[in-house]
Amino acid sequence: MHFDSRINRPTITTNDVVRPTLIEVDLSRLAENYHAIREQIGSAKIMPILKANAYGHGLVEVARLVESLGADYLGVAVLEEGILLREKGIQMPILVLGGILGNQVPYFLKYDLTITASSIEKLWQVDEIAEQLGSKAKVHLKIDTGMERIGVHYYNAGGLLEASVKCKHTDVEGIFSHFANADAADLSHARLQVERFEEVLSFYEKHSLPAPRLRHMANSGAILQLPEAYFDMVRPGLMLYGVYPSPEVARTVALRPALSWKSRVVYFKVIKPGHPVGYGSTWQSDHMVRAVTVPLGYGDGYFRSMSHKAQVLIRGKRYPVVGLISMDQIVVNIEWQSAYNDDEVVLIGEMGDEAVTVEELAEWAGTIPYEILTNINTRVPRVYIERQA
Ligand SMILES: *Cc1c(COP(=O)(O)O)cnc(C)c1O
Repeated sequence: MHFDSRINRPTITTNDVVRPTLIEVDLSRLAENYHAIREQIGSAKIMPILKANAYGHGLVEVARLVESLGADYLGVAVLEEGILLREKGIQMPILVLGGILGNQVPYFLKYDLTITASSIEKLWQVDEIAEQLGSKAKVHLKIDTGMERIGVHYYNAGGLLEASVKCKHTDVEGIFSHFANADAADLSHARLQVERFEEVLSFYEKHSLPAPRLRHMANSGAILQLPEAYFDMVRPGLMLYGVYPSPEVARTVALRPALSWKSRVVYFKVIKPGHPVGYGSTWQSDHMVRAVTVPLGYGDGYFRSMSHKAQVLIRGKRYPVVGLISMDQIVVNIEWQSAYNDDEVVLIGEMGDEAVTVEELAEWAGTIPYEILTNINTRVPRVYIERQA
């Protein structure tokens, strides 16, 4: 049996190499996107966002790449993502962006992960636990400037900022906020959020207190559209992976997708008219067609809601997926064209002059590119390729 050395999946050691359905991540493209963002942001620092398995691209591999590229900070959503990165040897600073509960604090300290403090009570709790454990916590304060999710409201932030300078067992190194719609064509709400954040930051100057050294706010939408929101550091997520956050966002940075989703034909047949395909018998042809079966389905994250809309590439041509998408298989109508067992099938990515994009899948599924990428199941092996410069 041939084992491909490019495949790097420490937790699953069987059958990933032989499974024809795989995700191919182009590390060179990720690096190009990273450099394009760097170019755009001038002297600001950069915190690549790696939550949800690095938007499906593989948490540990993407972390290793951006660490080697010299990124300043990493952002993840939940504690466990941070712990996994530490266990895999990632040494750079890591901010856990989500809300926390008290029982998690000792883990943050043990693994040297930075905490998001979203209220005075949580900040005091962190400071107290750090004291008890004879440790020093690292914290970024979270200000809600118009998202109503976590964080102290901008109009109440004074108390949190005052408390933060009194903490003895906590290094409050950052303060941040998050945009609700920086990727929109209408930026009025996003601009209001920037003004509110600036108002909060002016507290330090007014009271002659030193501001935390990392003030940050910009996600992909703001990196593309709102240079006034760069502050000390930016937090690119989706754009790092080469996908624009919305159809209307200004494409001020050139990006290319790093992820391809591929499989192979495992079965070929001729379907007669009047013989419906798949569960529920929802589709049939009124003439004889050739069809192929491809071994992936909604159990891999190929959403069932794309049934009767999705298209794939085979031999450089686009063909429709027919019938309902099953958990592990799809059927593709190739009309009277040719395709053979083992032929490559592209579900996301390029083939010849054709390409199927994440944005298209999002439209077929009635969702956003973020959800397509983050739902590609971990049972789909990830293969990493690097092009020679
Ligand atoms: C997800 C996230 C980001 C990155 O958002 P993108 O739109 O993917 O760039 C930045 N900051 C926070 C707090 C996030 O949760």
